[in-house]
Amino acid sequence: MPTETIYAPSSGQGAAAIAIIRISGSSTDVVLNEILSGSLPEPRVASVRRIHGTDGTLLDEALVLRFVDGHSFTGEPMAEIQCHGGRAVVRGILSAIEDITGTRIAEPGEFTKRAVLNGKLGLLEAEGLGDLISAETEAQRSQAHRAMSGKLGTEVSNWRQALVRARALVEATIDWADEDVPEDVAPEVEVLLKDTVNAIETAVGHARAARSLRDGFEIAVIGPPNAGKSSLLNALSGREAAIVSEIPGTTRDVVEVRFDLDGLPVTFLDTAGIRKTEDIIEAEGVRRAAERASQAALRLHLTSYDTSDSVTGVDLWQDGDLTIWSKADVLKGRGDISVSSKTGSGISELLDRIADSLRRRLHPDAMLSNARQEQLAREVLAICEQSIREIADLPVEILADNLRKATAMVDRLTGKRDIEDMLGVVFQEFCLGK
Ligand code: GDP
Repeated sequence: MPTETIYAPSSGQGAAAIAIIRISGSSTDVVLNEILSGSLPEPRVASVRRIHGTDGTLLDEALVLRFVDGHSFTGEPMAEIQCHGGRAVVRGILSAIEDITGTRIAEPGEFTKRAVLNGKLGLLEAEGLGDLISAETEAQRSQAHRAMSGKLGTEVSNWRQALVRARALVEATIDWADEDVPEDVAPEVEVLLKDTVNAIETAVGHARAARSLRDGFEIAVIGPPNAGKSSLLNALSGREAAIVSEIPGTTRDVVEVRFDLDGLPVTFLDTAGIRKTEDIIEAEGVRRAAERASQAALRLHLTSYDTSDSVTGVDLWQDGDLTIWSKADVLKGRGDISVSSKTGSGISELLDRIADSLRRRLHPDAMLSNARQEQLAREVLAICEQSIREIADLPVEILADNLRKATAMVDRLTGKRDIEDMLGVVFQEFCLGK
């Protein structure tokens, strides 16, 4: 079937030694014939060609890779032009392609979307690919790779197999059972459902940490005004990101500092001094601080010799949080860790403790890493749990229908069903040229 021919720069913005321009669609060879000197490159053979504009102007000499229908990333005729990375070169080649009738610039994620629609890539793998491209740290890369390499797809297809087998068992009895699931079938159906529930519970149990890893772990630095939060943030991140002052209540908004903590993406939040206040602007800062802090992966609760934590009035303590005694250079005190932002003592120990605490939450098999996947998995889980609870009382038709719904939900997860709806959700996060 003829497809529109799309093109886009696939390498990053800005000047570089090499840039890659991708073309995909039925007219790919037409485009290459228009802009390349000499013959069309053999499929999958890197070939040097001169590139010229439609008016014959020489634009660059580049390496060209050509792929034929069915044997490319998108599954369509496709080409990659590896040209010199100067902005004018890239712009010149893009506008030469634009001048050719029937071509248009690709939408964000459109190459990958076509790969999914042409069956070259599963939806879960495409999501993994998106995460891999966005990965900034080693742990993010490794998690994205698990999804991309098909491990999540295999796990989900195990859930599906169990559900399909359970449904087949139940449906086989519909014709002659009066009402309830016959006793000889019920035990096997129950085992299949329980196994599936266990597997999905495990996956969902790891999902929160997997999502935090994908999006970055937030760590809230909280405590009363003047406890040394802004100073600690600066000491942790090694730069002056937050305003440090001696006037209580300076940090009225939430200041974020993002960095790579030993492979983990971490965002430290410097929150407004949490205390009771009549000042409307400061009160808003306190409200925001408390909300962000309660949702963070970890809270560092600061106290120092010159503050009293009795004035906060807000309890944000959660299991696994760390208490920090700050300004330890002035006076020693009690806490999981004592630090001094002034001398730097305790700072690297604190970073190690944070990294350990976050790493303990990660699981090497964590795979569900975004809201779409987690929500669908939870819906499958809910149906399975309900079916187990009611297996003795449910009429067989209803049980079969529940299992059909659960399988349909799994198919939405993998993109076998309602692919158009799912593509919208998945590809909104992709950028141009992917
Ligand atoms: P915040 O309100 O909790 O953000 O506190 P700040 O970071 O603004 O610090 C309040 C005051 O304590 C400032 O005068 C800082 O210079 C001082 N301070 C912060 N950390 C330390 C420290 O480790 N040692 C000492 N001696 N003073 C500190």
